[in-house]
Amino acid sequence: MKKKVKALVLLSGGLDSMLAAKILMEQGIEVTGISFISSFFGADKAEKAATQLGIKLKKIDFKKEHLEMVKNPASGYGKCLNPCIDCHALMIKRAGEIAKKEGYDFIATGEVLGQRPMSQNGGALERVKKLAGTEVLRPLSALVLPETEIEKKGLVDRKKLLDISGRSRERQMELAKKYGLSYPSPAGGCLLTDPAFSQRAREMIKNWPKCGPEDIELLKYGRIFWLGGKTLMVMGRNKEECQMLEKIAGKGDVIIELESEIGPLTVVRIFNFKFSILKQFSILKLQIPEELDVNELKLDEITNEEKILGTAALLTGWYATKARGKKVVYRITHNVQFKSVLILC
Ligand code: SF4
Repeated sequence: MKKKVKALVLLSGGLDSMLAAKILMEQGIEVTGISFISSFFGADKAEKAATQLGIKLKKIDFKKEHLEMVKNPASGYGKCLNPCIDCHALMIKRAGEIAKKEGYDFIATGEVLGQRPMSQNGGALERVKKLAGTEVLRPLSALVLPETEIEKKGLVDRKKLLDISGRSRERQMELAKKYGLSYPSPAGGCLLTDPAFSQRAREMIKNWPKCGPEDIELLKYGRIFWLGGKTLMVMGRNKEECQMLEKIAGKGDVIIELESEIGPLTVVRIFNFKFSILKQFSILKLQIPEELDVNELKLDEITNEEKILGTAALLTGWYATKARGKKVVYRITHNVQFKSVLILC
């Protein structure tokens, strides 16, 4: 009996990747989806897509490797902090390694020639292939691209592949109708294409070139302040953000909360923090002013650890509107190996 051809399809969960999988399934190819999880995107959409297609899904967490690429992408960025060419190449490379190890015959993607100006023009698709170091089939655009070894070897019937190119989504929408596929809107899903988040991440990479996924995580919630260019302070803006920040605060972080008033929770992550400084803080009286111009605090110039914590406490009090003009009591927790609580009064 002839061995069934097995393909690993990069599944983002968007319509194009679903169609790429479907077109191969129509040829009797056994398709498995593969989706990647980074600090900037997850696999939720891919899970829904795989369920709809009735295929298995491999989820690969490559946060660290992906973040290192984002810090210094060989092919540069798009409009925001999105290094799409290198991001595609990294995913294809990893998928290629997994395919080889696990006995898949080839990998495929839902990329469409000319759909995205930066990452899906002819030159970019070639570059992705070169950077990834592996052959990749693009079923939606195969007929407008050079024939791949995958097609030449007869692993896939080239005649049944498509010739879609350009930015119009009409043909994909017709195909979705034909196959009865529902799909999410193309926008969103990757924080690196969000201008505001990109700005936050850019600043972190500049201030902490060695930042890791656990640092990027903090940028997703609350107001962000940088003190002295090396200390990150993140303040929740609502109950959900405060709860999330408390949950993700790591070893060595300082958590500041108001004990005497309702207000935000703040996480302070200090570069090379010395725990001993907190002892000096065990007695502190803090009066929150009625008026405060945050710009006048000159946060950029605050590098002394005592001042850092004092300023973080002051701002936490100031953003608790009801605490303005009052003397407040703080609860400060420092995550060392266990949570120790220091009451400042
Ligand atoms: S939009 Fe985001 S996930 Fe998609 S290729 Fe670009 S960087 Fe990667």
